This record gives sequence, C-alpha cells and structure tokens, in this order.
Amino acid sequence: MKIVTSKDEVRQQVREWRRQGLSVGLVPTMGFLHEGHQSLIERAAAENDRVVVSDFVNPTQFGAGEDLASYPRDIERDARLAQQAGAQLIFHPPAEEMYVPGASTFVDMQGDITAELCGRTRPTHFRGVCTIVAKLFNIAMPDRAYFGQKDAQQLAVIRKMVRELDFDLEIVACPIVREADGLAKSSRNTYLNAAERKAALVLSRAVELGSRLAAGGERDADKITAAMRALIEEEPLARIDYVKAVDADTIQPLSRLQGRSLVALAVYIGDTRLIDNFIFEE
Ligand code: AMP
Repeated sequence: MKIVTSKDEVRQQVREWRRQGLSVGLVPTMGFLHEGHQSLIERAAAENDRVVVSDFVNPTQFGAGEDLASYPRDIERDARLAQQAGAQLIFHPPAEEMYVPGASTFVDMQGDITAELCGRTRPTHFRGVCTIVAKLFNIAMPDRAYFGQKDAQQLAVIRKMVRELDFDLEIVACPIVREADGLAKSSRNTYLNAAERKAALVLSRAVELGSRLAAGGERDADKITAAMRALIEEEPLARIDYVKAVDADTIQPLSRLQGRSLVALAVYIGDTRLIDNFIFEE
C-alpha cells in the first residue's frame, strides 16, 4: 500500500488502474481510523478492484472554536489499519496541497438539508464537507464512494450533491459500527475521560429507546424524541444539542414518522459533541 501526499500522484495511480480496466472505490475520512472506517474500506474492497482512502482533517468543515487543532491524527497507524482492511492507496495531503492559496470556490448547498440538525450548530460545516468531497471525487474519479450511516445528514447531502452536480459515481451507505456496549465508534471518542465514556452511553441508549418505540407502533415524532430527551437529561454530564425526527432524504422535520424517517441526535458529553441516529422505515 502506498501513502501519497499530492493530487497528481492520486490521479496518476488511478489513471493507471483505469487503463488496466480496474474499478476504483473511494473512502473519504479525516483519519484516526477505527472499525467504522475499516468497515467502509472492507466494503469498498469487496466491491471494487482498488480502494483509495483519503485521510485529511479538512479545515473548511470546522467552525471557529471547534476542534480542528486538537482533532486526533496518526498517519502511521491509519496506514496499517487501512491496509489491513484492503486499501491500496492512502491520500494524505497537507492543507496547502488540498486548497490552493487564495481558494475561494465552494459547493454551498441551500435549504433545510444543510440548515437543520448539525447545520444549526455548525452553519458552515456542510459547505466544507461538500467542497472537500467534490474535490476528492474530481481527484480520485472513483466508480463508487463509501459513507457511513453514522453521519446520516452528511450522506443525504452528498447524495443530493452527486445528483445535482452530475458526478458519475455510486454512493454506497454503510451501517453504523458500535463498541460492544453500544457507543457508536468515532475518532472523537478519544476525547472522553472515563466518566464521560460511561456517560456517552446515553446516546446509544436513547437511540435504542427511540427505535423500540417506533418498532412498537409509536409514530408521533414528538413523543419519541421527548422520551429520548428525558433519558438523556437524566445524565448530568450530557447536554443536548438536538434530538429530532426528519425525512431521511430531505432532512425536512417530521411530526409523524413516515416513509424513510431519520431520528438523529447530537449531545455534548462534557466538551465533546457526539452524534448518533436510527432510520425507521415501515
Ligand atoms: P470521519 O473520519 O469521522 O469523517 O468519517 C469518515 C467516514 O466514516 C464517514 O463516511 C463516516 O460516516 C464514517 N464513519 C465514522 N464513524 C463510523 C461508524 N461508527 N460506523 C460507520 N461509519 C462510520
């Protein structure tokens, strides 16, 4: 497996693979890989001849005062884990390679889809996500790109961007990978101290409660989210950002679960903001 730092090296390698008739899967990440990322890489390796993993802490998707500087980084470890999972190439560019000096072009999606949920607390986040993902698609020209259901709003945003900007590739959604006790795996879990790690379980417990209520026939979105909130509020280290039911594709708020519904939450555990969700479909 190769680690490369320039766009040209990625393009050259992908061009060579294409010449050989090989298909290419892309797994965009911010690094500090865990089994969630590895599940995406494994799926990509099963469905494509070659897999490119991008490993880049993207500054444009962080807001002022967020954790850009402290975000965990370990490229050596990432290279090992990516290779184990079946990747052939890691793209690990410095920020100045990714964004040419003076860059001022962004992919800026309008509407509820980027303004709701995480968009309320992180108003410039999806502009950064769309911009970097569009750039990665242009650099790696993959046949398929793999994203986790853990970031369900991101997935909806990327699908819409691909449709509307005519990217010629398939988006593949992968299920949430969890720790044994239920906590969704996240690079940000490393921020948690022992007490916070325990407290963080309220997220997956709220998800379990909500999906149990929905499976039991409850369709009133307020009742479901109120029950989830009440559970989270019992945890003194937790502070709710949002708990909300929306349409899984449009991210429009729902008063009743219908079609493919997404019930998503963001909760601060101490200073660490964590997310989780479930999809309910009748
Ligand atoms: P990140 O490095 O956190 O930006 O995540 C890179 C990709 O991995 C995104 O598509 C995430 O949705 C996905 N991902 C992160 N955590 C998980 C998880 N626990 N299960 C499945 N996918 C995940």
